[in-house]
Amino acid sequence: MAVQNPLVIGTIPPIEVDIFQNPSAFFPTRAARESLQKNLLVEAFYLHYNQNDIYKRYCRSLGYGLQAAETDPYTIPLLPSTIFKKLKIRTLSGEATVKKCISSGTQGSISVIERDNTTLERFLGSVQNTSDNVYGTEDAVALNLGPGIEEAKDIWFSFVMSVTDVLYPTIDYVKNGVFNMAQLVNDINTFKSCYQDVFLIGAPPMFMEFYRYLNANHIKFDCGKQLFIVTGGGWKKQEAESINNNDFKDLTERIFPGIERSRIRDNFNAVELNTIIPECECGSKHLPVWADAFVYDLDTFTRSNEANQTGLLCFLDASPTSYPGFIMTEDLGQIIYIDDCPCGRPGKCIDVIRRVNTIESRGCALKIERDYLKQ
Ligand SMILES: [Zn+2]
Repeated sequence: MAVQNPLVIGTIPPIEVDIFQNPSAFFPTRAARESLQKNLLVEAFYLHYNQNDIYKRYCRSLGYGLQAAETDPYTIPLLPSTIFKKLKIRTLSGEATVKKCISSGTQGSISVIERDNTTLERFLGSVQNTSDNVYGTEDAVALNLGPGIEEAKDIWFSFVMSVTDVLYPTIDYVKNGVFNMAQLVNDINTFKSCYQDVFLIGAPPMFMEFYRYLNANHIKFDCGKQLFIVTGGGWKKQEAESINNNDFKDLTERIFPGIERSRIRDNFNAVELNTIIPECECGSKHLPVWADAFVYDLDTFTRSNEANQTGLLCFLDASPTSYPGFIMTEDLGQIIYIDDCPCGRPGKCIDVIRRVNTIESRGCALKIERDYLKQ
């Protein structure tokens, strides 16, 4: 597929064109990706450097400026995700905050991210693009094993899980904190004859609760080929019962006989990340063209762009305008493919191994905060 150059189409800002209209966001060739991605990252850096005092001071303390970003945008300074638990980091984008997004951390502390309209629309664009180009779904219903947007309020994870209602009819199965599993069973059986695809969407612990209910009540389904099982958000406070992605897929195959393994997917997102990173049918999490990822090696304290190196996952996400999307996460992971995922989509793929709360990673984040981000 030929990649248009979205930078010259009409008067729509380039990233809007890319997220909302370009079906090639997950398919650009390497040359097209590098050229477009660099432009988007430099443009984003300009905005946050010029309009965000804390970020500008941080960059200056590192001796990093606009010229360095223009020369090599992959060196753009990163903010540790923990910083959003302590400081309000708001880029003056010229737009009001339309959504305050919070995340309950595993340590009980809360990150706060303010999103303006452009940022939120771009996030929704990444959801749309994922649906069109990675899931390829047209006729679907989404059954959300969680609360709806109203009940979710500011909790980012719950918002993300219920946001499919912009794409498909969506039904929420947690109301007033109660998970209505009997209704979910009933609806799966009803909707399988009405829709081409039936999405079950939720955090892994919610699926585990549902699976226990199915086992306890000896309930079996015969709709394997229609189901899409989509998880996100990780285990959070249920870390003790966590199983890895492969074990979760094994378990799901036993619960839903006949389901294709390629239709059990885990998507990655975090409150600081304004982009959904979807799992493809081959089990790899793909980055769209407006975001890049690499790992930060905890032994050498350097960035690595090589496949199969383990470190803290870092993202350069050009899509947010209300805060810098240049984030060092607390998730240990790897780049697993660069242009060679078996699904055929070019670009980078990540694997998320687990959350780290080690002294090293905390120490790394604390050092950055102490040295560069003091108010
Ligand atoms: Zn793939």
